Amino acid sequence: MKVLVLGAGQLARMMSLAGAPLNIEVFAYDVGTGNVVHPLTQQVMLKGLNTAITYSDVITAEFEHIPHEILDICEQSGKFLPTTDAIKAGGDRRLEKALLDSAGVANAKYHLINSRDDLTAAIDTVGLPMVLKSALGGYDGKGQWRLKQREDADRIWPEMAEFMAQTDNQAIVAEEFVPFDREVSLVGARGKNGDIAVYPLAENTHTDGVLSLSVALTGNEALQNQAEAMFRSLAESMDYVGVLAIEFFDVGGKLLVNEIAPRVHNSGHWTQQGAETCQFENHLRAVAGMPLGSTALLRPTAMINILGEDRLPTDLLSHPQCHIHWYGKEKRPGRKMGHINVCADTQEQLDSSLATIASYLDPAAFPALKR
Ligand code: AMP
Repeated sequence: MKVLVLGAGQLARMMSLAGAPLNIEVFAYDVGTGNVVHPLTQQVMLKGLNTAITYSDVITAEFEHIPHEILDICEQSGKFLPTTDAIKAGGDRRLEKALLDSAGVANAKYHLINSRDDLTAAIDTVGLPMVLKSALGGYDGKGQWRLKQREDADRIWPEMAEFMAQTDNQAIVAEEFVPFDREVSLVGARGKNGDIAVYPLAENTHTDGVLSLSVALTGNEALQNQAEAMFRSLAESMDYVGVLAIEFFDVGGKLLVNEIAPRVHNSGHWTQQGAETCQFENHLRAVAGMPLGSTALLRPTAMINILGEDRLPTDLLSHPQCHIHWYGKEKRPGRKMGHINVCADTQEQLDSSLATIASYLDPAAFPALKR
């Protein structure tokens, strides 16, 4: 079984590692260079997208900001999963909001902005404070503004207008500011036969809009059931096949969807050591038409993102339940370079292990860890 992944980053790399034991060969199309590469070595394997499409049995994606021309070519081959519409919705907040509404899934109140008049209308309908998000190209908190007072609208409008003018078909989605208690996410898979298997929710901490810590949650049955029902509605409404991640705001025990990722997700990396089958294997199983693997939690687990660092104290590996995953990337400030999965036998032990691991690490580089 040969799976072509659009995108050649760490997610394709981890799919490749997870696919090998099942004899699933993963190769990656680097959308930037147009090369088809091996996801681990980045060595060029094939020339051109069309050759790769012919060579593959299934095509999938590891990110959503993919030119529509490329998605359309893949769609025509009849090999693309989950669906190219799902990928397009993941890359355009307008389509994403429409999808959430049509699936009847609760999300933050919003208004679309294309002009200064729309901004006034947004203030009237959504209310203040509000979060303004670019429709295209927004991820990890990029392309976002906060508006607290009506008087500030004239001040931020020129910046928003200039931002929109830089990209074709750009717009801004104004969203009510949600006073959430915490952020959680659900990662799950839907198979070709419609079977669904979801992982336990993870509680996520973001630093400057970027995920820094995810902890698998245990014992939250009501919240888990709520998230699972929303997952089911969304996945079934799209006839989705593969892993889908949903990010939520938890507001007093009621979940509101923040955004979706039609792919394996950073907040699901803990599944590599903490679940019976990891999200990468389950995505491959789903798109290959195999039965889904169990998503059961094996033990309390957390994931710490390594951002902008290419070295960690080697002593860290002497910790018996600490697993480091590097992505083999060149160091750049803030770049996702790898992650650390930390497991424990009990929740209390996980907290104490996280504190021990934090003591080895630079607080400036790992601010989400309690010390
Ligand atoms: P996003 O790129 O949409 O995930 O936004 C990045 C981060 O901004 C989220 O993880 C939240 O912490 C925060 N955020 C986004 N939208 C809202 C909102 N409507 N209300 C409050 N905080 C938000």
